[in-house]
Amino acid sequence: METWQQALANSITKPAELAKHLDVDPSAIADVVAEYPMRITPMWMKLIKEKGDAFWRQVVPEPEELTDDSPADDPLHEDLDSPVPHLVHRYPDRVLFMVTNQCPIYCRFCTRKRLVGKPGFLKQGELERVVKYLQAHTEVRDIILSGGDPLLLPDHLLERILKALRTVPHLELIRIGSRVPGSLPERITPELCEMIRKYHPIYMNLHFNHPDELTPEVKTACERLADAGVPLGAQTVLLKGVNDDPAVMMRLVHQLLLARVKPYYLYQADLTRGTNHLRTTIETGLEIIKALQGYTSGMGVPHYVIDAPGGGGKIPLLPADYLVNLTPEQATLTNYEGKTYMYPQPEQPDGNSRRRELPMVSVPSTSTGCSMADSMLG
Ligand SMILES: *Cc1c(COP(=O)(O)O)cnc(C)c1O
Repeated sequence: METWQQALANSITKPAELAKHLDVDPSAIADVVAEYPMRITPMWMKLIKEKGDAFWRQVVPEPEELTDDSPADDPLHEDLDSPVPHLVHRYPDRVLFMVTNQCPIYCRFCTRKRLVGKPGFLKQGELERVVKYLQAHTEVRDIILSGGDPLLLPDHLLERILKALRTVPHLELIRIGSRVPGSLPERITPELCEMIRKYHPIYMNLHFNHPDELTPEVKTACERLADAGVPLGAQTVLLKGVNDDPAVMMRLVHQLLLARVKPYYLYQADLTRGTNHLRTTIETGLEIIKALQGYTSGMGVPHYVIDAPGGGGKIPLLPADYLVNLTPEQATLTNYEGKTYMYPQPEQPDGNSRRRELPMVSVPSTSTGCSMADSMLG
């Protein structure tokens, strides 16, 4: 049987090789690949059935990547929020740690397009600097290993990182963000799972965008991780011509739940240079959430978020309709079928006098809708 290293080595990285398998003009994409690397694993090559399908669009370079010059190359200002190399500390109690810049496949819509696939990552002494930072920052209780894809590190390097992080007493959770199970399932070996389970609680958020990515091999990889006690979530990017359709997204969330993966985030695409051709409207995302909420298992409904340009973090969005009006007396609500309901508020202890002083505000339902989303989806 092929090892994961062999499967990775058999991936397609050169335009001329790609042209042997798919209908592409290698000279038209050579410049693109020089700027933004390509890698397509054997599993992913099998997924691609025709030009421009959902799998092609995610990994085959397009000349448009180089002509798209309006947006930024670091739209989330990750470089500015980095206290030590490879660490992004944006939120009060959690940090993002980029441990490699290699990926099994190079997504054409990648937020870190400026970094991935390029050499020189996590140099001598840098892990120690990160651990030192974490030791000094007792407020950090959750760390997300990202990259690149952490599961492309060999077991002994990944274990070195996990072991070092577990020397920080206040660090409660370690999360790993990965597209490996869905693109290089050979990597999820019993040995990897045995190693990971020594460092619990470890959570994983896996990247999946289309239901047909859940092949039998991919489901087996997810099953191994789940059996090793790793709670699995999915992060999905809303992409034009890939999953910008409620029926596709309904199938995706069902396939994920079958594979014991809970949909976590649906991302509006970031404003990264070279990715604009795959971006959809926000209305499309809201339509999708509307088509899921109430119509299928609540566990299958992800939080739809925009990672705010300029480093504001993730902002949840809900269709505006659910909370129609909120007064100190009552809420006016609309359910998924469009029917209206009233929910009375509890009596305020100082009763009517205080009420009269308050202006009767109609809270914009997108902002209050978010806290509703937390209680409904949480
Ligand atoms: C997404 C992200 C996190 C984690 O956010 P959660 O909402 O807790 O999943 C942490 N740090 C950065 C910089 C992020 O982009």
